[in-house]
Amino acid sequence: MSKLSIRAARQPDAIGQQATLQGWVRTRRDSKGGFSFLELNDGSCLANIQVIADADLPNYESEIKHLSAGCSVTIIGEIKESGGKGQATEMQAAEVIVHGWSDPEAYPLQKKRHSMEKLREWAHLRPRTNTIGAVMRVRNQICRLIHDFFQENEFLYIQTPIITASDCEGAGEMFRVTTIDPGNVPTKQDGSIDFEQDFFDRPSYLTVSGQLEGEIYATALGKVYTFGPTFRAENSHTSRHLAEFWMIEPEMAFYELEDNMRLAEQFLKRIVNEVRENCQEDIEFFQKRIDDSVEATLDSVASQEFQRLSYTDAIALLENSGEKFEYPISWGADLQAEHERFLTEKHFKSPVILYDYPATIKPFYMRVNDDPKTVRAMDVLVPRVGEIIGGSQREDRLDVLESRMADQGLDAKEYWWYLDLRRFGTVPHSGFGLGLERMVQFVTGMANIRDVIPFPRTPGNAEF
Ligand code: ATP
Ligand code: MN
Repeated sequence: MSKLSIRAARQPDAIGQQATLQGWVRTRRDSKGGFSFLELNDGSCLANIQVIADADLPNYESEIKHLSAGCSVTIIGEIKESGGKGQATEMQAAEVIVHGWSDPEAYPLQKKRHSMEKLREWAHLRPRTNTIGAVMRVRNQICRLIHDFFQENEFLYIQTPIITASDCEGAGEMFRVTTIDPGNVPTKQDGSIDFEQDFFDRPSYLTVSGQLEGEIYATALGKVYTFGPTFRAENSHTSRHLAEFWMIEPEMAFYELEDNMRLAEQFLKRIVNEVRENCQEDIEFFQKRIDDSVEATLDSVASQEFQRLSYTDAIALLENSGEKFEYPISWGADLQAEHERFLTEKHFKSPVILYDYPATIKPFYMRVNDDPKTVRAMDVLVPRVGEIIGGSQREDRLDVLESRMADQGLDAKEYWWYLDLRRFGTVPHSGFGLGLERMVQFVTGMANIRDVIPFPRTPGNAEF
């Protein structure tokens, strides 16, 4: 007798099999004819399987008739063709074994619908809901496709460190890593903290990006990608920011900005196309229950060319749009969410790649253009979510890089290894970062980023 996932048991080719199903009861309904219907779910797919338990089962009165939402069971029986709507199969139970009861008075998910906010308080139970289950199946699929895409394109998967002493973009937003006892801080003679007595002999942090280390490997091995957790201690309470999120960062030697944009577009299209194919049932759920523009948005990404325009053109377009923005925009300022949404949702109705940003609002490592006020940065903006990818061609000229670092008050000595990459066999190279959670948000239509990661970390929230 083989164990089947409910996903497999719902396929017509399972009809006639004797099988064991294991999962959690969603509902029980008793029929006058002397039997009960159980809706069983095991997370393998959105849909439940209907189980028919006849009154002549030995534990029918004592157990089966008391099953309620959340109870865990093993059911042995035969998969049969179902006459019911929306299901090819059902199971006729020969045996129902109850593993765990779930008191309907106390079980929080007994009631059918809760707000997403309420569900966040039950991070340990919310995976049992249809919505979080569907999100996690889609998230899993996206992760797999990310590896498929890069592996098929001859990228090497490189693990960059989570703990780092290099501060990629500004220490204000980094979490410190230390073993110093806060009640007994070692100090130097001038009263400042003596980090030489700390675990790594210097101030260290959780990484905000694997890019700089990615460049090290790209300038040796050609095309690489990292895929890991990143941490930002920014105190932002938005629907698009987490303190801990997962980032995919490809880095490619001999890639200029145009190559980088092309790769980013191919990559997003591939993920969208294949999620659409592989997660049909879950995507239909999001379309029906979460956001009725999900399918149309996915289709438009898959079929349309991304609009490309320079930052300078985008600013002119926004200034002349006649739109009333809460934050006025002018050359030199960073785009706010409302500007991103205007471009992607109203004006172009498609993803947009903006490039050549003012040097003053971008980090030191981006390649300076000949103008020389702008740098070879690119952001990919998509409807609803806004910025989903940030990337650039990297500055490969030693002298320019050194002077940019000096402009931004960075100590070249601390980056000696990064500068060495320009000293020894420097090459044009580029890369970008895709936030995994923003991608999951985009594909599912989920409004808040806290609902697309198993355990969201945000200011004040890290219980479990
Ligand atoms: P934003 O302007 O939206 O705060 P950023 O410009 O700081 O983002 P980058 O440093 O360019 O972001 O990071 C690359 C990608 O990582 C972003 O395009 C986004 O998809 C994702 N990302 C950045 N910060 C966060 C965050 N706090 N939570 C979730 N994803 C993030
Ligand atoms: Mn960015």
